[in-house]
Amino acid sequence: MDMMNTDAPVLVELGNDYPELRDAVAKIAEDFPAPYWRELDERSGYPTEFVTALTSSGFLGALIPEEYGGSGLPLRAAAVILEEINANGCTASPAHAQMYIMGTLLRHGSDAQKRKYLPNIASGALRLQAFGVTEPTSGSDTTKLKTRAVREGDEYIVNGQKVWTSRALHSDLMLLLARTTPLDQVKKKTDGLSVFLVDLREAKGNGIDIRPISALLNHNTTEVFIDNLRVPAENLIGEEGKGFRYILDGMNAERILVASECIGDGRWLLNRGVEYANERKVFDRAIGSNQGIQFPLARAYAELEAADMVARQAAALFDAGRPCGEQANIAKLLASEATWKAADTALQTYGGFGYAKEYDIERKWREARIYQTAPVSTNLILAYIGQHVLGLPRSY
Ligand SMILES: Cc1cc2nc3c(=O)[nH]c(=O)nc-3n(C[C@H](O)[C@H](O)[C@H](O)COP(=O)(O)OP(=O)(O)OC[C@H]3O[C@@H](n4cnc5c(N)ncnc54)[C@H](O)[C@@H]3O)c2cc1C
Repeated sequence: MDMMNTDAPVLVELGNDYPELRDAVAKIAEDFPAPYWRELDERSGYPTEFVTALTSSGFLGALIPEEYGGSGLPLRAAAVILEEINANGCTASPAHAQMYIMGTLLRHGSDAQKRKYLPNIASGALRLQAFGVTEPTSGSDTTKLKTRAVREGDEYIVNGQKVWTSRALHSDLMLLLARTTPLDQVKKKTDGLSVFLVDLREAKGNGIDIRPISALLNHNTTEVFIDNLRVPAENLIGEEGKGFRYILDGMNAERILVASECIGDGRWLLNRGVEYANERKVFDRAIGSNQGIQFPLARAYAELEAADMVARQAAALFDAGRPCGEQANIAKLLASEATWKAADTALQTYGGFGYAKEYDIERKWREARIYQTAPVSTNLILAYIGQHVLGLPRSY
């Protein structure tokens, strides 16, 4: 989106914005109660039925323009959808990538690519849920990634390895970041990386091997081994060598959407904590009457409200086409910490029962921790604020 250079005020909506969307998501969530998620968690399963329900109701196509079969809603609407999914006890992460990733195709794909893929993504016929960026040896230092794509005629031959590629076994397409010009041949380390749309249906067993990673939370995450994978040159997104910029372009939207997911989880955890603090009687009174229980809940609420305010501010700036890197990063920072505070407080409030799987608190506690590490870890957010907002020296 072009950034408008204007000082015109941007209005931030407070309260229950997009109430119809909130109600509609809450209605879908009713069909997917806690036992559904608990069972998936036990066997590291993927919520296919839930993702199908979201797609067929048009939620995952919220950001796809109407001309490609989506609903063309503003980013704030998508943020509200993800927030409500989590606030109603469901888990947005099995589906959120579609919203994050699709933007790269929309902003930088050719007309032909958009016409070919977007309507099918909007309808759910094609799942674009996998994003292969992180690699085992380079981690957060993305420009050092080692996966190489070498052009040969009208194809690229790709070799390398990705790690933590979530949902790759439940996605038809994967957006892949690979180096097309070696690092020692580019002027800037951010040059020479390219983005490809890989059709996993053809690639599996044909250059790509995907292996699940057993992890702390059920995120359907995998390792992807790439061995002489042939990708048609027509699947290159935008220009060769500019892929890093295309990925960066989507970061603000991603940060804002992640912040909303955190706030949703935080709301669910806090509500459960407050309910239990009112109900549970020990020493002949509700445990919530003890300040040792009440104050952490009050603090978690205050921190969630503050994070929500900045997330709304960031989304409003984004939707107005204004620069929002600062607000998007702060929103993600505050929201990831506020939801963790809410999770830890809920666990403490539940006492021993917090550890019992049937109360779902331990599961949500595990899930709430991830936002401080993925899709980007807290230190990298702080480095952004330090360098780009405060003008401090680069640390890397
Ligand atoms: C459940 C899960 C799902 C994921 N899904 C995906 C996915 O779908 N696609 C994908 O591409 N990736 C995915 N990731 C990867 C995730 O984005 C990375 O784990 C994350 O960006 C951190 O990279 P790393 O693990 O290599 O840590 P490292 O880069 O090795 O960093 C380790 C620690 O050191 C800190 N650190 C590193 N450099 C600095 C510095 N210069 N200054 C200060 N601190 C620093 C980091 O903040 C971090 O705390 C997922 C990860 C998990 C756990």
